[in-house]
Amino acid sequence: MSRGIFTVPKAYNEAIKDYKPGSPERQELKQTIRDLRSKVIDIPMFIGGKEIRTDDKREIFPPHDKNHLLGYYHYGTEDHVHLAINAALEARLSWQALDWDHRASIFLKAADLVSGPYRAKINAASMLGQSKNVFQAEIDAACEMADFFRFNVEYMAHIYNDQPISSKGIWNRVEQRPLEGFIYAITPFNFTSIAGNLPAAPALMGNVVVWKPAETQIYSARVLMEIFREAGLPDGVINMIFVNGPVGGKVMATHPDFVGVHFTGSTEVFKKIWKAIGDNVAIHNTYPKIVGETGGKDFVMVHKSAKAKQVATALARGAFEYQGQKCSAASRAYIPDNLWPEIKEVLVEDVKSFKMGGPEDFRNFINAVIDEKAYEKIASYIDHAKNDPSCKILVGGNYDKSVGYFIEPTVILTTDHQYKSMQEEIFGPVLTIYVYKADKYEETLDILDKTSPYALTGAIFAQDRWAIDTAFYKLVNAAGNFYINDKPTGAVVGQQPFGGARASGTNDKSGSYLNLLRWVSPRTIKENFIPPEDYRYPFMEDE
Ligand code: NAD
Repeated sequence: MSRGIFTVPKAYNEAIKDYKPGSPERQELKQTIRDLRSKVIDIPMFIGGKEIRTDDKREIFPPHDKNHLLGYYHYGTEDHVHLAINAALEARLSWQALDWDHRASIFLKAADLVSGPYRAKINAASMLGQSKNVFQAEIDAACEMADFFRFNVEYMAHIYNDQPISSKGIWNRVEQRPLEGFIYAITPFNFTSIAGNLPAAPALMGNVVVWKPAETQIYSARVLMEIFREAGLPDGVINMIFVNGPVGGKVMATHPDFVGVHFTGSTEVFKKIWKAIGDNVAIHNTYPKIVGETGGKDFVMVHKSAKAKQVATALARGAFEYQGQKCSAASRAYIPDNLWPEIKEVLVEDVKSFKMGGPEDFRNFINAVIDEKAYEKIASYIDHAKNDPSCKILVGGNYDKSVGYFIEPTVILTTDHQYKSMQEEIFGPVLTIYVYKADKYEETLDILDKTSPYALTGAIFAQDRWAIDTAFYKLVNAAGNFYINDKPTGAVVGQQPFGGARASGTNDKSGSYLNLLRWVSPRTIKENFIPPEDYRYPFMEDE
């Protein structure tokens, strides 16, 4: 039992290392990549503190080198989902009984592990398993992961500190109870830190979790599990299973003790999950919390007063870093005709200069897309544009899967602002541009607002303050993260709480206290020091 009102260490953003030639971090990382590539590893599920292996072993390859075997993972069934739920429920009471400062210590230690002794390993695993270049791995797997852990501890303390006032003779308190059941965390392939944060945030608040990572992220997920273990997370608090998405989703939605889902992934899958939960509402012991961050069709809107080079750079970075596989990636742009010639020249030149290949060669800016399914989907959008009379491919447009799933960064110019790729999420290195008449700024803002169902991120580029102000109000619901003269990617924990509305999710802002509030159920306590002993009120006395 804790005997003190403790202050947690001040959270800070982990500094990004630059991996310059000759730097010690570069040497260590290169060696770790070589070590990992030289081994074939075996990845079990992790349930109730035990490693679980099955006869169904599946292979893992780097997306950029599909003939190189990295390892195997053990695929589970419906039975393993039940096993994991039971393990979580068994751990629930003891985890909830542990004082909050111990929970804080575990995740603060995890932050120091991921940014310290495990930094090279988690980065190397993300580079090999998810085809991230060193910078993309560093900002995600090492830095953002540590930031989530550290800032969430600070937010937890802030939430616990937020107490009601008390009147004379009374003490009012609010305690933040963990939820009465298990949380199911379903994570995407594209960010190692999101994969870690989705189970960790509810666990930090005292909940027990079943975590189902995306199959294409398992190689780095197992490093996260190692870190949780080394940080001292007790058995059963986070259980990691590798099962088919819909199979796990069905067991989750039909379990009476299911109390919440923490999801990041596509809009299509989230809608199915929401429906399955709704269909089973009569079964659940409590109303489950449904938290989901989903797809995006993120925009860059440019006013005639903007600076062409700044816009071109924001598009080159915002659309193509990590092969456009960021929910926040710029994927549609509206450019005024007065700036278009200059923006086009710089952008096309920049994109042509990108080097593409495996992340083991640090000179490559662009790597492979995650798997064959994604490759085929992205290629089909490029082919569609090649055959559509409203479109022209300005740069890129080729793809090749002979060695890995490589797609050239592609810019489509369209004369149809409602063209398919102005509306739908592609989730790959494809940017579509619509050029509008510079004096049709306000009309174009209206078109932008109505074109796509998503509302995750977006940017306005302008020097003219009135133009910024107009976009600020007209696009009020078009993005949960709105950028002024900056690319729409790269949100930092503690600085730009992240999430969107409309078809982009429940906007519960990961990397802020708002998200943590979803994982608790407050109990209000009123204590009366000297309770009355007579039911009669003074107004009832005789005149
Ligand atoms: P996905 O939707 O294909 O898969 C996400 C997870 O859901 C996987 O673990 C998958 O196995 C599981 N799943 C699939 N069907 C299921 C079902 N019926 N029930 C339960 N689980 C099921 O997404 P992905 O390809 O891994 O990730 C890319 C998507 O994630 C993009 O749409 C992207 O925009 C989105 N994303 C959003 C954010 C955000 O913060 N808004 C961040 C990252 C990624």
